[in-house]
Amino acid sequence: WEKLVRVMRMPRERTYIMVKPDGVQRGLVGEIIKRFEQRGFKLVAMKMKAASPELLQQHYADLSSKPFFPGLIAYVGSGPVVCMVWEGTDVVKTGRKMLGETKPLESNPGTIRGDYCIDVGRNIIHGSDSVDSANKEINLWFTPEEICEWRSMEEPWVYEKA
Ligand code: GDP
Ligand code: MG
Repeated sequence: WEKLVRVMRMPRERTYIMVKPDGVQRGLVGEIIKRFEQRGFKLVAMKMKAASPELLQQHYADLSSKPFFPGLIAYVGSGPVVCMVWEGTDVVKTGRKMLGETKPLESNPGTIRGDYCIDVGRNIIHGSDSVDSANKEINLWFTPEEICEWRSMEEPWVYEKA
């Protein structure tokens, strides 16, 4: 029984989604939240933050050797970002699909980048690319106390199996 209860309480997958400073400046925060909410995903953490260069260097550590790295750190540090954790079945992969491609011009209309931006250096949103990086990013941007465990009354209407 105890094991069953533990399994039942296990949260669904989580991803780290961040509206970059251009998305904030262009008034796209609500639109982005709306898309994840309406898909049926559950918001479990959110805050606005002016990210330090050190934090951004950690967040983008994998890209540190790229020529665009200094510009990337300056861009994402140029104003406040909106940091979020979204929860739901397969939310990492589905979130990436909702974002579109890294290059907005290669993103299909209907995706966030395909609808709201043009330039790879101003692509308005970040989303984790794997469950592993999602967990790392969530730990980097949020403390455990900032994550809200809550039961959505929508759940039985979104999922066949609660
Ligand atoms: P993402 O996971 O789709 O965001 O893409 P990456 O992890 O490959 O890159 C992180 C971010 O770096 C992108 O979202 C862009 O903002 C930026 N970036 C990636 N490639 C380029 C590039 O070729 N030029 C510039 N200026 N920025 C880039
Ligand atoms: Mg990435």
